[in-house]
Amino acid sequence: MPLTSILPYLQRAQQEKYAIPLFDLFDSNAVDGAFQALEDLRAPGIAALYSNQLGKTNTAALTAYLRARAEQSQVPISIMLDHGASFEQCMQAIRLGFTDVMFDGSKLPLEDNIAITKAVARAAHAVGVGVEAELGQVGMGSDYQEIYGKRKGYTDPAAVEKFVAETGVDMLAIAIGNAHGVYQGEPNIDLNLLAEIRRRVETPLVLHGGSGISEAQFRAAVQGGICKINIATDLYLEAGKNVAAAAAKGAKSYFELMPLVLTAFRQRCGYHIELFGANGKA
Ligand SMILES: [Zn+2]
Repeated sequence: MPLTSILPYLQRAQQEKYAIPLFDLFDSNAVDGAFQALEDLRAPGIAALYSNQLGKTNTAALTAYLRARAEQSQVPISIMLDHGASFEQCMQAIRLGFTDVMFDGSKLPLEDNIAITKAVARAAHAVGVGVEAELGQVGMGSDYQEIYGKRKGYTDPAAVEKFVAETGVDMLAIAIGNAHGVYQGEPNIDLNLLAEIRRRVETPLVLHGGSGISEAQFRAAVQGGICKINIATDLYLEAGKNVAAAAAKGAKSYFELMPLVLTAFRQRCGYHIELFGANGKA
């Protein structure tokens, strides 16, 4: 039950009201910690490379590592491109063997976002790869006061049906008071906007910027129709905190520090898997 597109698992998650986690991973310690958590808890999951990792010297090797680990895995795992910046990047990822891709056209005018998402979806679907797009714009947590105060970038529910129908996209990332990175102030998810979007489309809905959202808001968002949640910042902060604490206590060698990264990923990925209700769903 190894490497797979996440689409069939998302449909089940949507029906049964839990969310499948996506973890952004950059090296083998992070990958191994995340995979162990998914296997510990018998959860399906998504191992993602952020688009800025494409085109690097180790991109093909890291993707091959992810694929090999997924193929050996006891649980279903998708390898996904996160925030693909262009049609070309999405095609590169597919060629490297990713099972799902995100094209992020959220900064583009709506018609351009639709046109490129549609092209990505058509090409990806021809080879069995699932596609996520973003409507509205999930900004940075460092700008959260402005995002929340002015509802900056929030998804326009009136555009959702047209976007989904014209693009043929499989998963839709929405902006409902969520933001990437560390939030400046308390995150506040607009559950009414989520409900309105959910009423309009059956497409699996995705929440980016999951680091810092309260447990109660996560649970409410999942009950409201979110069935995929992206986590990155939380994992890296925890790993960094543990490494810094050990270094402060006198650990000097990376050989000592390295396992702390794996353990931090295993623990925090496990925490999110259980919080999202994905444990036991593999
Ligand atoms: Zn994101």
